Amino acid sequence: MSKLSLSDFTDGIIASHETRFNKEEKTQFLEYAKQRFMDLGYNDSDILIQKSFFGGRNLIIGSPDANIIITAHYDTPARNGRIALPFFNIFGMKLSSVLSLVYMIPLLYFLHLPSIFAQNFRFGVAIEFYIRNLWIFLFLAALMLFRNKHNHNDNTSGCVGVYGLATLISENPELKSKCAFILFDNEEKGLFGSIAYASWRKRNYPGKSDFRVYNLDCIGVGDILLIAAKQNSPAWKLLPELSEFFESSGINTVHRTSNVFGFMGDHASFDWGVVFTFVKNAKLTGLYIPNIHTSKDTVLNIEPIEYLCATIFTFISEQ
Ligand SMILES: [Zn+2]
Repeated sequence: MSKLSLSDFTDGIIASHETRFNKEEKTQFLEYAKQRFMDLGYNDSDILIQKSFFGGRNLIIGSPDANIIITAHYDTPARNGRIALPFFNIFGMKLSSVLSLVYMIPLLYFLHLPSIFAQNFRFGVAIEFYIRNLWIFLFLAALMLFRNKHNHNDNTSGCVGVYGLATLISENPELKSKCAFILFDNEEKGLFGSIAYASWRKRNYPGKSDFRVYNLDCIGVGDILLIAAKQNSPAWKLLPELSEFFESSGINTVHRTSNVFGFMGDHASFDWGVVFTFVKNAKLTGLYIPNIHTSKDTVLNIEPIEYLCATIFTFISEQ
């Protein structure tokens, strides 16, 4: 099969691999993705499935110890956006995450109950408490249980972006030798895929700790490019410079700090890691990622992804 355009690559995912939630779906998606990267000229011998925790699998294309790593997570989230991120389109991602603590505080109390009882612990009392508050466990399970049937933005769009960059880079042999592309599993469950790759790389290539990770997450909808990194990391110090570059390329760009209250993702598993995300201004304050973890996640605009890929490609080439 010959090279696919970004929109044909996307159509192929949506038609047959729209959700990647259980093992079987993930296996079939990995097979599809692997074939598409081979169509771009990446050899079978340069493609690796690296095992992560709890049966997770990362797809690595190119040398696993490359200096430049372009990533996205391919796993499908649960449909929990309305509860885990209440009113995010009004309050923005960060404030909305704080709001969700309204549910989380009783939960933390619940889980720590045995230690509260510790001094004068009576088993029967604890059990009774747990049974009475069973709803909290059921509530949490429900947050993780139901797949979000649509996940165009989070994160089919990121996979499309990785494919787009792999397409551009495949035509530049010098750059190609420095780059690898990784599709991570289980980001939604707690960055498990990227944490597994980071520690695997440390073990297998101890002398190659100086590398950069460009992560693409939710680049399918939105009119503002957000670039984020975790506080005080080497990448975080470069954020003003990075956003200046994208701004001067004609993309409306902002930069933010990634933390537990927002713009977190696989990039945070690395010393040097940034994430690119398209966002919108929320109605009252802050920024939000449209449609994530909801049944409305059905929009994926190809053209802005193509332009973003071309701009990241220029940025990387000039480094
Ligand atoms: Zn995501």
